[in-house]
Amino acid sequence: MTNPVFIGSRIYRGSSYGPHHPLSIPRVPTVTDLCRALGWLDADTYRVSPCAKPNALHGFHTRDYIAALQTAEATQAPNKDYDLGSVSNPVFAEVYRRPATAAGGGLLAADLVRKGGVVYNPGGGTHHGLPDRANGFCYINEPVLTIQRLLAHGLTRIAYVDIDAHHCDGVAVAFDGSNAVRMISVHEDKRWPFTGPIEDTANGAAINIPVPKGFNDTEFDLILNEVILPAIADFKPEAIYLQCGADAVTEDPLSRLALSNRCHVSAVRALRPLSPRFIVSGGGGYNPWTVGRAWSCVWAALNDREVPEHLPAEALSILKSLSWTRRAQPTEALTSTLLDAPRHGPISDHVRTSVSRLKRRHAGNGG
Ligand SMILES: [Zn+2]
Repeated sequence: MTNPVFIGSRIYRGSSYGPHHPLSIPRVPTVTDLCRALGWLDADTYRVSPCAKPNALHGFHTRDYIAALQTAEATQAPNKDYDLGSVSNPVFAEVYRRPATAAGGGLLAADLVRKGGVVYNPGGGTHHGLPDRANGFCYINEPVLTIQRLLAHGLTRIAYVDIDAHHCDGVAVAFDGSNAVRMISVHEDKRWPFTGPIEDTANGAAINIPVPKGFNDTEFDLILNEVILPAIADFKPEAIYLQCGADAVTEDPLSRLALSNRCHVSAVRALRPLSPRFIVSGGGGYNPWTVGRAWSCVWAALNDREVPEHLPAEALSILKSLSWTRRAQPTEALTSTLLDAPRHGPISDHVRTSVSRLKRRHAGNGG
C-alpha cells in the first residue's frame, strides 16, 4: 500500500468566519505546520486540495442553493432563504471557495483510494450541511459528497464513523435507509442539533450513541470496542470514512465531553486495518491548541509514528504562537506537548445501558 496522503490548501490560512465566530481560529494551518515541523509531512505526501466546481456539488445540494452560495460570496450579502448570513453561518470573503475546497479535497480523497489507500483531509468533515441550506457552520457537506463519489466508483459497502461531539444530521439525511452506507455516530446527548437519539436507526442505516457530559476515555474505549468495532467488522466495509472532529476533547468550548486526544488516535489505529480504503477528515474543534494537537496526532497515527514527548523547538514555537480571544492562558501541556495524558474515569450508567442495548440490537434481540 502507498503512503498516506495529506490534503491541504492555502485557503485555510488567513480565511476566517469573522472575528467573533468559533471558527475564527486557525486549524488546518496549525496541523500542517506542526506536522512539517515534526518531519512528518514531505512534498510527496502533501496534495493541494482542488476547489470543487458547482456541478460536483449537485449530487447532494440543490442547484439553487449552490448558486445562492456563489452569489453570497460575490456580493457579500446575506440570503435568509438559505440561512446565509446568520450568526452561525456568516457570509465571509471565501464563503463558497473555502467549503468547496474542503469538498474538493474529499472528492480527491475518494479518487485517490479507488484502488486502496489512506487519505487525510483535515479541512473536511462538514457533517451538518443540508441539501438546500447552510447549517451548523457547514455550507457544503463534504462527507456526503465524498461517500457519494466512493459509491460512484462502484463500492457497495461504506462505513461512516463520526466521533465529533455533535450528531451528523446532514449525513444522516443523505443516507437514511441506505443499504450501502452504515453510519455510526458518537455525540453529546441533549446538544445541538438535538438529532440522533439511540432509537434512531435512520431506517436501518445508522447506529447512534448519544453520550452524557463528562464522557471520558474509559467510556470511549468501551463504545469503540463493544459497539463500533464489532459493527464495522460485521459490515465488512470496502471503505471507511472517519470524521475526526476534535470538539469532544475536554478543553473544547462547544461541548461538555471530557476525552483526551488519545481517543482519536485509538479510533484511527483500530479502524484502519478493517478496510482497504480509509479516509479521515477533521470536523468540529474550537480551541486552537486542542484542534492542532489532536489532528497532528491523527496524522502521526495514520503513519504509525510515535508522538514524541519532547517537541522540537519549531513545533513548540508554533504552539506558543497561537492565541485565542475566548480564554485566558492555555495550560502548560497545551503549549508543550501534542498527545494528552489519558483521561480515564468511571463508566456512567448512561453509557453502560446504551452499550448493553446496542449489543442486544446487534445480536438481533431488539433494543
Ligand atoms: Zn462538532
